[in-house]
Amino acid sequence: MVETIFDVIVVGGGPAGYTCAIRASQYGLKVALVDANDRLGGTCLLWGCIPTKALLFTAEIWNQLKHAERYGIEGVAGAKLNWKGVLARKDDVIARHTKGLDFLMKKNKITTFKGFGRLIGEPTLCTPTSKDRSLGTPLSDKAGKDGAPERVHSVEVKLADGKTETVKAKKVVLATGSDARMLPGVKEDETVLTNYEILKIAEPPKSLVVIGSGAVGVEFASIFKSFGAEVTVLEMLPRMVPVEDEEISKELLRLFKKRGFDVNLGIKDTKIEKNKNGALVSWTDANGKAQAKQAEKVLVAVGRAPRTADIGLEKTKIAPERGFIMTNEWMETSEPGVYAIGDIVGGLPQLAHVGSMAGLIVAARIAGKYARPINKARIPGCTYCDPQIASVGLTEAKAKELGHTVKVGKFPFVGNSKATILDAHDGFVKVVADAKYGEILGVHIIGPYATEIIAEAVTALELEATVEEMMFTIHAHPTVAEALLDGFSSVESIAVNV
Ligand SMILES: Cc1cc2nc3c(=O)[nH]c(=O)nc-3n(C[C@H](O)[C@H](O)[C@H](O)COP(=O)(O)OP(=O)(O)OC[C@H]3O[C@@H](n4cnc5c(N)ncnc54)[C@H](O)[C@@H]3O)c2cc1C
Repeated sequence: MVETIFDVIVVGGGPAGYTCAIRASQYGLKVALVDANDRLGGTCLLWGCIPTKALLFTAEIWNQLKHAERYGIEGVAGAKLNWKGVLARKDDVIARHTKGLDFLMKKNKITTFKGFGRLIGEPTLCTPTSKDRSLGTPLSDKAGKDGAPERVHSVEVKLADGKTETVKAKKVVLATGSDARMLPGVKEDETVLTNYEILKIAEPPKSLVVIGSGAVGVEFASIFKSFGAEVTVLEMLPRMVPVEDEEISKELLRLFKKRGFDVNLGIKDTKIEKNKNGALVSWTDANGKAQAKQAEKVLVAVGRAPRTADIGLEKTKIAPERGFIMTNEWMETSEPGVYAIGDIVGGLPQLAHVGSMAGLIVAARIAGKYARPINKARIPGCTYCDPQIASVGLTEAKAKELGHTVKVGKFPFVGNSKATILDAHDGFVKVVADAKYGEILGVHIIGPYATEIIAEAVTALELEATVEEMMFTIHAHPTVAEALLDGFSSVESIAVNV
């Protein structure tokens, strides 16, 4: 039998891996995709981005219904939440997209293997002219040209039935993603949950303690607050959403408190003791006082650990740092021919769109096409809690730290007519610009549709736009995006609507 040697094997079928596989195939490469799960899509589609946003959408509708009379709608006062229906709708969204991915694999003639993949052995040398091998498209780099031998890597795939299969390729892309981190000595179960268990709970809890106020923590806090839970947020650092601009953190804290969340910042020594009613969570508060809260459920949202154990790295030159794989700007690892993308990569934010862009870059590099590295200062970050948060570029503090003389503009949504229509006046747009040249260095939004309108700010930064250029860019009326126009004008203290 002719042995297939693929151009690329992608190990991991999350957003980083499947995007890379599809693009590599579009470039004419012969591609294999290995995923350990029975469904493609990874954390993002199955347990992360998509299910949480489906729940947040239901929460948003539910919140609107609570105030229906304000919008002139009567007769919904007795509306009930059908939790099974809420979960079914979330699962339907996931199912449509997993089917979509299966379709895309077929359409792009990607060979998929369902099983756990790991690199085995040293790469072997193989000549493209060898008669017993059907090599894929020759690579554009020197290796393999003019019949020169090429390195061929082997990935062993442990299939669901326990059998193993060896898949060979000239290049390997590792995209095995991440798992939720737990507190030391704590194990997830039906009371102490990670993003995985919480998406399957039988009923929304009446009380919930969320440990961690990053994106995952505040999104779930928002969801279950909307569905009636008493929510306590515990954060070790002195502010919520700590990667955001300080003023955004302050505004979120103000608005969460206004919505009735119990938020505790700068805490330490968190302990969880399970009991018959759930768990007692205790901690030391910022003033050194012992505090405790009994809750039905506890969500631990303290970050994500890269899944790099047992994937055969010990057979390579790759030396993970705290589990992360380090790469150069082209996502190349220290093992020639082996790339890493997505949540396993050190030094990049663990976001789906960062992983998928890294996948596109790798596919282009392997195919010898144009690509450019990820610019860390141009990565949008979005948090879909209520109110939404979105940002790109430098925070005010970081811009100053880097030596910029900054000029800052701030426009509150209270002056935006579409925000009034949406009944969503909380929050603001903050623009950080370079005082000398007017270049936009960062845009930070908290408020309605923040995660949608940030796209304009990303483009502005990408094109190195100045405040002046954006002040003369026409924004349709009435839109939430107009708040950006006023935000840019506010840098010059001449926003019209405030
Ligand atoms: C609750 C939650 C909400 C989130 N919301 C957002 C959001 O709104 N926006 C955003 O940008 N990001 C969000 N994220 C982060 C986002 O989910 C991740 O950044 C993204 O999924 C990472 O993609 P990835 O392809 O690197 O890894 P993953 O999505 O984790 O996929 C890795 C895949 O590799 C497979 N795999 C693992 N090991 C092996 C192996 N040895 N062999 C074969 N297959 C293997 C797994 O089965 C999995 O399918 C969220 C995360 C969580 C937890």
